[in-house]
Amino acid sequence: VCVVFAGCGRQEPVRQTVLVMDTVATLTATGPEAEAAVSEGVARLRELEAMASPAGADSDLVKLAAAAGNGQWVKLHPEVYHMLAVSQQYSERSGGAWDVTAGPLVELWGIGTERARVPSAAEIAAARAKVGWQKLELLPQTQSARLMEAGMCLDLGGIAKGYALDEVRRIYAQHGIKDGLINLGASSLYALGRNDKGQPWRIGIRDPRAEDKDTRLAVVPLGDAALSTSGDYERYFEQDGVRYHHIIDPRTGAPAQNAAMSATIVVAGSCADAGMLSDLLTTTVFVLGPVQGQAFLEGLPAEVQGMLCDKQYKLWPAHGFEACLQDRQLPGADQ
Ligand code: ADP
Repeated sequence: VCVVFAGCGRQEPVRQTVLVMDTVATLTATGPEAEAAVSEGVARLRELEAMASPAGADSDLVKLAAAAGNGQWVKLHPEVYHMLAVSQQYSERSGGAWDVTAGPLVELWGIGTERARVPSAAEIAAARAKVGWQKLELLPQTQSARLMEAGMCLDLGGIAKGYALDEVRRIYAQHGIKDGLINLGASSLYALGRNDKGQPWRIGIRDPRAEDKDTRLAVVPLGDAALSTSGDYERYFEQDGVRYHHIIDPRTGAPAQNAAMSATIVVAGSCADAGMLSDLLTTTVFVLGPVQGQAFLEGLPAEVQGMLCDKQYKLWPAHGFEACLQDRQLPGADQ
């Protein structure tokens, strides 16, 4: 067979990089239908971007915000409904550490935008009054939702890319793709099978304080699993020695201030919603902090592994994640 099919060793992967969902996404796939899988994957990312964006005519978020407080139910795209349904489960489970209604706080702080600043206590209190997952109601029969108070709005920034991973993964499966990488901006990705060299994918976990983006805490070998990392180094500004970053603790109304520097989650592909879970759980456990975050992860099924890295570079692994880490680098290597 090898003689008949030239290059029987490995096929060349198809790879496409696009700017979508506020990030640089690279889709890679190998196999006879790789071309179709990648181009359909990119098209799907663009559709999801339109549905889940905080602006735009087809955005459910815009419709929900416009109807907030008026009692009307808003019929949602099934995709958005699904994100919200899963989201609400984790809000309840995490005691509100995870909360998609944090929109007014995300907006107020503006982290990562030119208007980022430390708001006054009064401004924070006013925004917090418009936040609360219990004030987001879902109606499964009609896949509708409503926000109970005027001024409320949703922010899917911590979950939409994860959902997108699952969708592209589904498209890959339809095309029989066994080897590939769905990389949405390096902080959220889904690896399938093996890389171009026939080896397991090796994903570097960034050192949260290194200037050089390529300095790693460790490397995680991955096959058929989703991996996400979030931290206080991605989008932030510093003022008076405090680092104000993009992960908001809805309970205080401010960027989460605890010992965590980053959180990394791996969810096995056998888990439904693997991409979405990996994405939302990084934010959730970051807000909970190392001690509670680790305990939270230990309470989830064993298909969910992960760790927090604290400001002393101490790792807080769950479900045996430390055994997955390779090439541990300084300064965490001796721990
Ligand atoms: P990214 O990796 O794309 O920067 P993350 O997965 O780190 O995004 O999620 C952070 C984003 O989630 C924030 O930019 C904001 O939009 C949203 N967010 C922040 N805090 C919370 C929270 N406590 N619950 C839900 N979403 C949040």
